[in-house]
Amino acid sequence: MRMDKLLASKGFGSRKEVKTLLKKKRVSVNGHTVKNSSFHVDPIEDTVMVDGEEISYREFIYVMLHKPSGCISATEDDYHKTVIDLLDDDYRLFSPFPVGRLDKDTEGLLLITNDGELAHQLTSPKKEIEKVYYARIDGIVTHDDVESFQSGVTLEDGYQAKPAELKILRKGDISEIEVAVTEGKFHQVKRMFESVGKTVMYLKRERMGELVLDQQLTPGSYRELTNEELDYCL
Ligand code: URA
Repeated sequence: MRMDKLLASKGFGSRKEVKTLLKKKRVSVNGHTVKNSSFHVDPIEDTVMVDGEEISYREFIYVMLHKPSGCISATEDDYHKTVIDLLDDDYRLFSPFPVGRLDKDTEGLLLITNDGELAHQLTSPKKEIEKVYYARIDGIVTHDDVESFQSGVTLEDGYQAKPAELKILRKGDISEIEVAVTEGKFHQVKRMFESVGKTVMYLKRERMGELVLDQQLTPGSYRELTNEELDYCL
């Protein structure tokens, strides 16, 4: 990160004011005076001091992304755009990764962090964190499907899914539903519908535990979690 950007973000004034601060030799990096605003600093590894006082820099970032369709839930990939590619460099500096996965064509709530402990807590099968999805299904979703989901459907590989709450929002040639699952197997929701002979046409995650997708976020946009949201997750 550029030195002027870092100092401005820490409340040392505008970029112009920060430039003056640097010219006056009041800033050091790892014990050496730095006068150049465009000097690149690693906010995690480097010790930055202003007037002999160390600037504290946070260790972790917590970002809520509205994942768009078409990018993959990975940190890097030679062929596909990843969810990390959607972030500004200032966030990418922290080596963030997605908490769990959404399929390439799935949209919605994805938490991105560099806090491995929190990611582990949220994805541990033992915790059974509830994930709520909105979906459009090809065909009429019936009350029988609701009951099958409630009892726990058997997937094509013989795995018995945990009970899931299925709500029919609109019945029709294309039905709209909401489903709450407490596990996160590969293609979980799509395979659950396949087991009752139906195809998911569109899938969007709306909630994970207490964390709800911010309706203001359009696909591809993101913001940091509020302290209240972070408290839900910790
Ligand atoms: N279930 C799926 O089938 N796909 C997802 O991306 C998430 C849950």
